[in-house]
Amino acid sequence: MTAMQWFFSFLKKYRTKLIFAMILVTVSSLIAIVNPHVAGIIVDDIIEGGNRKILPLMMIIMVVTNLVRAVIKYWFLLIFEKSSQGMLYTMRDYVYRKLLAQDFNFYNKNRTGDLMSRQTGDMEAIRHFVAFVIYSVYENILLFLIALVMIFIVDWRMALCMIAVLPLTAVTTAKQLKAVKPAFHNIRQHFSSLNTSVQENISGNRVVKAFTKEDYEIEKFNKENDGYREAELGAANIWRKYVPIFEFLANVLSIILYLVGGIMVVKGYMSMGKLVTVSGYLWMLNQPLRQAGWLANDYQRFVTSVEKIYTTVMVEPTIQEPENAVARKHFHGDIEFAHVSYHADDEVILRDINFHIKPGQTVGIIGATGSGKSTLMNLLCRFYDVTEGEVKIDGINLKDMDLYSLRDNIGMAMQDVFLFSDTIEGNIAYGRPNCSFEEVEAVAKIANAHDFILQMPEGYDTIVGERGVGLSGGQKQRISLARALLKNPSIIILDDTTSAVDMETESQIQSELGSLQDRHTVFIIAHRISSIKDADQILVVDDGRIIEAGTHDELLERENYYYTVFHHQYGDFDAIVKDNGSRRHNEWLKGGSKVG
Ligand code: ATP
Ligand code: MG
Repeated sequence: MTAMQWFFSFLKKYRTKLIFAMILVTVSSLIAIVNPHVAGIIVDDIIEGGNRKILPLMMIIMVVTNLVRAVIKYWFLLIFEKSSQGMLYTMRDYVYRKLLAQDFNFYNKNRTGDLMSRQTGDMEAIRHFVAFVIYSVYENILLFLIALVMIFIVDWRMALCMIAVLPLTAVTTAKQLKAVKPAFHNIRQHFSSLNTSVQENISGNRVVKAFTKEDYEIEKFNKENDGYREAELGAANIWRKYVPIFEFLANVLSIILYLVGGIMVVKGYMSMGKLVTVSGYLWMLNQPLRQAGWLANDYQRFVTSVEKIYTTVMVEPTIQEPENAVARKHFHGDIEFAHVSYHADDEVILRDINFHIKPGQTVGIIGATGSGKSTLMNLLCRFYDVTEGEVKIDGINLKDMDLYSLRDNIGMAMQDVFLFSDTIEGNIAYGRPNCSFEEVEAVAKIANAHDFILQMPEGYDTIVGERGVGLSGGQKQRISLARALLKNPSIIILDDTTSAVDMETESQIQSELGSLQDRHTVFIIAHRISSIKDADQILVVDDGRIIEAGTHDELLERENYYYTVFHHQYGDFDAIVKDNGSRRHNEWLKGGSKVG
């Protein structure tokens, strides 16, 4: 399918209406014949012939035809406007769904500002085309042809003179269309960049302020602003050359008419009334010529936008829903990674990962920053596909699994917490909007968020997110945790979820979470040993590999990476370790104190 075929597929639904509107345009254009004709009759029969009796009739005909034309015009404008809005609604919806269906890779590679301009500026160019350009082009061509035919009927010699300008018009239009195309591409490119710049500056406004980079950002923005202005001016420079040519051609027509017509009248080949009629048709020839340049611009703007939107939405997500997908309402939570490797753009992120988690187990994942912990969980959610090996849940390869049922079974509190501009209750209940308030409250209590929520100005009804009240990092994390828990999924992933809460609160959250165990397989990614020490299995990730696995005690005994981290976080424990005092470690850790 080409971009244009794709666009026209949206118009199909409105085909009947648009054809009807085109018929109205045709009728209105045909009615335009009447006035010049009547004017001719007035000159020949009334002024020169002295037949005054038909004057009132002629006046009535003129008034009525003008009224009818106005009504018809109103009618078809309404149809075009409504159809364009309806079509645009469907197209926006389609594009939005396509964007939602895109995977992480797509969003890693596309700038938000670019995607926003697809849904705003580009859509507007399309709307303008459907609401205005389609009928204008048709109406202008029709008026031109009708006028030519009418002039032919009045006097064929004069019509032949007028036709002489047609090839010139066609060549000029074609040249302009070709010349402005790259300019409009350039405009769209700069518009996207401008949008991205505004979006990033607004989103990152706090960072800009903290680094007092306002001047720098203004300068950066001005560059984008300049770029956009230059792009628009560049296009204007091109079409500006063509507009006078069309104007000139329109004037040539007038000159031909009055010159040739005048001579013919003087020589007695044509009556005065006929010259008046022909000059009445002149606007029907002139107007299309004058508008040709502008319409060519609008058309090219539209084509560019359709192509932009089309190339954005036609990107196939790399994560594909399998045929004959296995769907499960509820998983047990048996998870196996077998020889899993993941490469992103030739870079090896994870290599030969092997582990097997039984249902109901809690898994701690620890490792240096950038070692691949979050990526591991992204593979489990199938946000990315493994490059080699297999990830299985309950023995089913993720690639054979229904994507919806896979993700519906996983509750994830992501490392970058994102809250929507909604109430706290709305944010927590995001995954199950129909749940009861008691359920929201229950998970908020587990996440140790209930107390601080009650202290907010409007409790659970407090609006948070972008336009709401500010929350601390730890508060956001706890709401995100509650949101993940409320889904009541078989698999819970907590990626760095308690990193910003104090150890006391973390320990309370852990004891609450403990009560959920057995029903859920839980992954806890953390940098603090205190967050994961009670896990049934701890995986130590380093540079994309699992370098150690075992329980807290086992790992300490091995005196390896985990032992070193523990040592760094809790000071010199050699004596205690030698004493094999894991019970004492735990007591120590609960207190959260660091031994100096
Ligand atoms: P942290 O503790 O800081 O959260 P992490 O262990 O979670 O770190 P990951 O986010 O898994 O680390 O990233 C592992 C490595 O993979 C990093 O070097 C990162 O730059 C890289 N990486 C992650 N996602 C992608 C991606 N989509 N494309 C390319 N590289 C990526
Ligand atoms: Mg991470």
